[in-house]
Amino acid sequence: MNYFLRKRILVTGGAGFLGSHLCERLLGEGHDVICVDNFFTGTKDNIAHLLNNPYFELMRHDVTFPLYVEVDEIYNLACPASPIHYQFDPVQTTKTSVHGAINMLGLAKRVKAKIFQASTSEVYGDPTTHPQPEHYWGNVNPIGIRSCYDEGKRCAETLFMDYRRQHGLRVKVARIFNTYGPRMHPNDGRVVSNFIVQALRNKPLTLYGEGTQTRSFCYVSDLIEGFVRLMNSPDDLAGPINLGNPGEFTMLELADTIRDLTGSRSPFVHAPLPQDDPKQRQPDITQARHHLGWEPKVALRDGLAPTIAYFEQLLERQG
Ligand code: NAD
Ligand code: UDP
Ligand code: UDP
Repeated sequence: MNYFLRKRILVTGGAGFLGSHLCERLLGEGHDVICVDNFFTGTKDNIAHLLNNPYFELMRHDVTFPLYVEVDEIYNLACPASPIHYQFDPVQTTKTSVHGAINMLGLAKRVKAKIFQASTSEVYGDPTTHPQPEHYWGNVNPIGIRSCYDEGKRCAETLFMDYRRQHGLRVKVARIFNTYGPRMHPNDGRVVSNFIVQALRNKPLTLYGEGTQTRSFCYVSDLIEGFVRLMNSPDDLAGPINLGNPGEFTMLELADTIRDLTGSRSPFVHAPLPQDDPKQRQPDITQARHHLGWEPKVALRDGLAPTIAYFEQLLERQG
């Protein structure tokens, strides 16, 4: 790439599921990528194929501590994302969202970088409005077991908007809805990975509650396209902007589809519904369509096929 067009881009959480796909995409566009990760939930396997690229640099670092690098853009993704992982050390989860945001915003302020925040549909909590538009303020329990994640991300959004208002920073906030694809963790307890691993092993598929709660699942390549479009959008577009696939499914429907695609003999079993589990979730993506010309292209069955193939290979390697 032309020297003047090549940007130095920092991706925090770059060794994770979404971060590794983003690093790949940015390198593919010819940029210089610095991946920062403390490997809490990410792995070197996710980025091993990038290590020989001279434009890729890996730093082991925890974003709750200050970081001094010179970059043009920052994608702040560092944060455990699945309930099992973010509830493992809830205090550290809040610190990662809040102190991590403060440090990355301080860095962006010093070097005048544009900064993107990976926020979440969890800011809507257990929503009373359906589907969820960005102007909905949410229904979040501030003291429950999901709060470390939900409130941490909400506070991070506040910080992003205040650094914009107070210091004139160029910020971009994406509210990401459930996303799936290759490089998801096999043990992070999320529904897509759980069902696929269970189906491939012909073990019972664990439906929490009745399985009538809904989620809307976005394939990773669609989401990464949305990230890049939002980052490259005009400076006056700060968001928050919903990024997700409006196709909404009950967990029973998801289980049926995965059983069908894997040809599995797994039965269904029911387990208790976790505390504060949202009953329904679907993104209203009017804003993303309008401002970014973006909408997901990959249907659930089409995205599940490569995801299942990824888990098949992973389980084979693990024996
Ligand atoms: P992930 O767990 O695979 O990736 C998170 C990465 O952050 C990991 O590599 C982890 O090691 C790293 N990390 C965690 N704490 C850190 C710290 N203190 N310092 C440095 N690195 C740290 O999860 P993911 O699914 O790739 O999620 C990436 C981001 O997107 C997260 O911020 C998450 O909240 C957000 N998000 C994801 C989804 C989804 O469905 N995957 C939905 C909404 C929001
Ligand atoms: N910071 C950082 N890298 C930088 C600049 C700042 O990690 O290049 C951190 C710094 O530790 C500080 C935080 O970002 O605590 C917020 O910085 P800001 O300048 O907004 O606030 P202040 O330094 O005045 O507290
Ligand atoms: N879920 C389930 N079985 C599982 C794992 C999850 O029925 O083995 C349900 C969970 O209760 C929730 C939905 O699937 O209603 C999505 O869970 P996930 O942890 O993937 O994402 P989140 O709740 O954070 O949206």
